[in-house]
Amino acid sequence: MTVSTTVLGYPRIGPRRELKRATESFWNGRTSAADLQATAKELRTNVWTTLRDAGIEQLPSNTFSLYDSVLDQAVLVGAVPERFAHLTDELDRYFAMARGVEGIAPLEMTKWFDTNYHYLVPELGPETTFAVSGRKPFDELAEAPGSRPVLVGPLSFLLLAKPDADAPKDFRPLDLLDRLLPVYEDLLAQLAQAGAEWVQLDEPVLAADRSAEELAALQATYERLAAATQRPKLLVANYFGPYGQALPVLARTGVEGLALDLVAGAADLDQIASAGLGTKTIYAGLVDGRNVWRTNLPEALSIAAALLGSVGDLVVSSSSSLLHVPLDLAQENALDDALKDRLAFAREKLDEIVVLGRALKEGRESVAAALDDAETARTRELAGSVDNRVRARLEALGDGTARGPATERAAAHHALGALPALPTTTVGSFPQTASIRTARADFRAGRIDAAAYEQRIKAEVDSVIALQEELGLDVLVHGEPERNDMVQYFAEQLAGFATTEHGWVQSYGTRYVRPPLLYGDVSRPKPMTVTWATYAQSKTAKPVKGMLTGPVTMLAWSFVRSDLPLSQAARQVALALRDEVHDLESAGIRYVQVDEPALRELLPLHAADQAEYLEWAVAAFRFATSGIADSTQIHTHMCYSEFGEIVDTIGALDADVTSVEAARSRMELVGDLQRAGYSRGIGPGVYDIHSPRVPSAEEIEESLRLALVAVPADRLWVNPDCGLKTRTYDDIEPALRNLVAAARKVRQSL
Ligand code: GLN
Ligand code: ZN
Repeated sequence: MTVSTTVLGYPRIGPRRELKRATESFWNGRTSAADLQATAKELRTNVWTTLRDAGIEQLPSNTFSLYDSVLDQAVLVGAVPERFAHLTDELDRYFAMARGVEGIAPLEMTKWFDTNYHYLVPELGPETTFAVSGRKPFDELAEAPGSRPVLVGPLSFLLLAKPDADAPKDFRPLDLLDRLLPVYEDLLAQLAQAGAEWVQLDEPVLAADRSAEELAALQATYERLAAATQRPKLLVANYFGPYGQALPVLARTGVEGLALDLVAGAADLDQIASAGLGTKTIYAGLVDGRNVWRTNLPEALSIAAALLGSVGDLVVSSSSSLLHVPLDLAQENALDDALKDRLAFAREKLDEIVVLGRALKEGRESVAAALDDAETARTRELAGSVDNRVRARLEALGDGTARGPATERAAAHHALGALPALPTTTVGSFPQTASIRTARADFRAGRIDAAAYEQRIKAEVDSVIALQEELGLDVLVHGEPERNDMVQYFAEQLAGFATTEHGWVQSYGTRYVRPPLLYGDVSRPKPMTVTWATYAQSKTAKPVKGMLTGPVTMLAWSFVRSDLPLSQAARQVALALRDEVHDLESAGIRYVQVDEPALRELLPLHAADQAEYLEWAVAAFRFATSGIADSTQIHTHMCYSEFGEIVDTIGALDADVTSVEAARSRMELVGDLQRAGYSRGIGPGVYDIHSPRVPSAEEIEESLRLALVAVPADRLWVNPDCGLKTRTYDDIEPALRNLVAAARKVRQSL
């Protein structure tokens, strides 16, 4: 029995976001493909050097990507849709699949499980053929001899793919398994020849519920790959949850190694002894790849020690790729020391893994000092982690989710007589122009003072209000020019949150986010949005809608403390928002929108866990939006991904008006909601803001008439399908003009 150390993957963006800069300057034609490849190679080398120097014994390779690893795998197995086939330059074709190119739509992008990372969805059809079609894993293996190439496993590749546009209705990508497996056999043979001792096949689909048929496919897949005559040892890696039933299935196959997520999938521990893993190498994911808190090393050590008897070799590892956490805590100079003591970013997690490995190999005493220091730091008192006033207020308010009946609210609102039928509005943000970004940069660099910054933002609000009046919209917004990001903006103002300087994490491609750290009890020292909302309202006689980010989205896009259940952290955030809603109302704001675009994202992967999540998520939203007058309208907005699974939940939120992404799905959601008994206002996005294309008034009119088939006119709102911050005024002015014209036309025919 041996003990060793590894990680399942590592951040690839570089300490100063070098990959983003190199990629974008290549896209803009300022640098060459060779420049980009040179930066990429340097970044990879740095990662391997870092891992080696930290003392990690088994290095992963092929975890680098110029855009996304699922896209890399699609290219590697030759699954390039026909519409890209004419692009002969490999790199151009790769980026065309990722981002589209004149007249050719990119692959669809969607959320990677319950993370905020997005992958590109392979498109497969009955015509798809596969063949080894690239050198990437071989090139990286040559760059890092002795490393373990990482591939997306065949089952996950197929289950994460979607049928292409021409596929018959009954086609499922999984049907292609027999066609795909020979290509994996070929890949394995070639990797063995190139000197790989191990290959890692990522199968994260196993963390979600899998049918009997899929489990049978899993078994067939790995029996077949294990039977290949020339191949490296096989490591199957599942993460973000337990294997559950898939564990005994894989145990029966001839794969040599299994990686277990012992953080999110600790439930697997119960079946390890009985699963028959005695001869397998177990990669024990003891260090959290998804969150930023230090590992409880003594606890991890006792879990690992308990495993030693029932498995073959043991490799201490991260629970998932470290792609989902920031790179290096040493870059943060502004964080409070006590908070910093509790944190471990990717670089620090390597040290944790190495200490655990040494403790197991050489005995606990050999690292006693390191373990003690780590525990002292991890458990050091942190000011603000408990705020008894917050806890007492929550206790006193109890459930606190009651509002008047929706019909009475609608009547009370109607009595104000403020709006026409089919009211027009927007989802909140207006374009973040170069001048806004300059103002923010000037302010941060100290070139302008707070008063001057405020003047520049106010001038922006002035023009956003003037534009909306001129366009003839009915419910106006202030346009969110003061917000860098819809979560960070609030996190910066709430007690209990901290923000980082360099804690970037890839969301997709060259888009990186800097999730705040929710480390303590949350409260609101002072109002956060009231001055902007009232300033905007002072500039118009039309109603202005206040704009907040909901509790679930605040959590989903932050790193959340692990010493408090998510449900309670959500309630604390909701309390702060409730105070804000109350203050907006007191200041005369009659419409408040609380955005929850991430409601679907946090939905647990296992159906059995979903009801409990939805219960607290809904309760938090309702808590944030209760305790106000019947006539004050609560709006909410949701976007990204299929809401089919949570239509009932949208009703349960009890908002007066819900706006949703629907432009691309031809208003289908309206009918779905109606069938689910949803009986409040609905604003199906009639204009796809993700595309620069300006929709005609006729198109929008047609969408509205389509929506009116499912929903009565007195509940229909007219709005774009998301915020406008990524667009330019050149796109949105004509689009909103057409939107207002279409609404007026349909209104007249009611
Ligand atoms: N109010 C936000 C905006 O308009 C909503 C963003 C979102 O849905 N992601 O930008
Ligand atoms: Zn949106």
